Amino acid sequence: MNWCCLNGELMPLHKARISPMDRGFLFGDGVYEVMAQIDGRIRAKSLHAQRLQLSLDSIGLDTSIEHVFADVDRLIKKAGFSNAKIYIQVTRGTSSVRNHSFPSIVSPTIFLTVSDFEAVSQMTSKAIVRPDIRWRKNYIKSTALLGNVLLMQEARDSDAQEAILYREEYVTEASTSNVFVIRGQKVVTPPLSDLILPGITRHIVIEIAHNLGISIVEDNIRVDCLQEVDGIFLTSSTRGLMPIVELNPGGSVGNGKLTSIFLALQDAYDEKLRCYD
Ligand code: PMP
Repeated sequence: MNWCCLNGELMPLHKARISPMDRGFLFGDGVYEVMAQIDGRIRAKSLHAQRLQLSLDSIGLDTSIEHVFADVDRLIKKAGFSNAKIYIQVTRGTSSVRNHSFPSIVSPTIFLTVSDFEAVSQMTSKAIVRPDIRWRKNYIKSTALLGNVLLMQEARDSDAQEAILYREEYVTEASTSNVFVIRGQKVVTPPLSDLILPGITRHIVIEIAHNLGISIVEDNIRVDCLQEVDGIFLTSSTRGLMPIVELNPGGSVGNGKLTSIFLALQDAYDEKLRCYD
């Protein structure tokens, strides 16, 4: 049985109901967070909590993070998974009137789901490279994901696993992950800005690279340089470090083999996650 938690109430997923007047449904007026639990512990929980707070604050939604995370703990206990993928969705709630502006009295809808999850090192993958068609506030983890959805579908239709995005001539991120490139002995990732999500895995990878003495910089990456780099990898909490070996357009990346820098980072990431709170 799949369990969820809706507004503090634990219930089987198939029993959960929200109103069609919920602003998450009508306007995409909400934010979310996704975390991985491995061996019974949520990885980088405090970083995810901070980012959820940032997203909530950015859209002027006032709700108690402590209560949300207490409900997450109850849900995980009920579902009984040791390894799980956890989604937190918070919308501005349901109002009887359909107005773009915020209703004066409304309480948020808080919906939590948990599903079984196997943490595996990612296989080599292909990515398409496309213009970033999304809005300009991608640091907010908004539930309004239509741009990301269309881009990911385009990737799947092209037999690829991700879409790497660029705005003007520069890489931003991918449709569900952050982007890193390896040039010789150096790793480069686009700097934090409104245009990208401050990925938790991105943060951990930067930390690991510093610890390993690998040279890593946050700098703009020209999209036309993607074809000249030695390696590309994408990061996310549910997929870890995902190496990209082929681009469309662009053909194979580097010499088509995983670089020793990538392998060192991936090993250290798996190790680091075991002890990350
Ligand atoms: N960018 C986007 C657009 C994403 O959806 C995700 C996945 N949450 C990421 C980056 C990676 O973030 P994280 O490492 O926190 O999972």
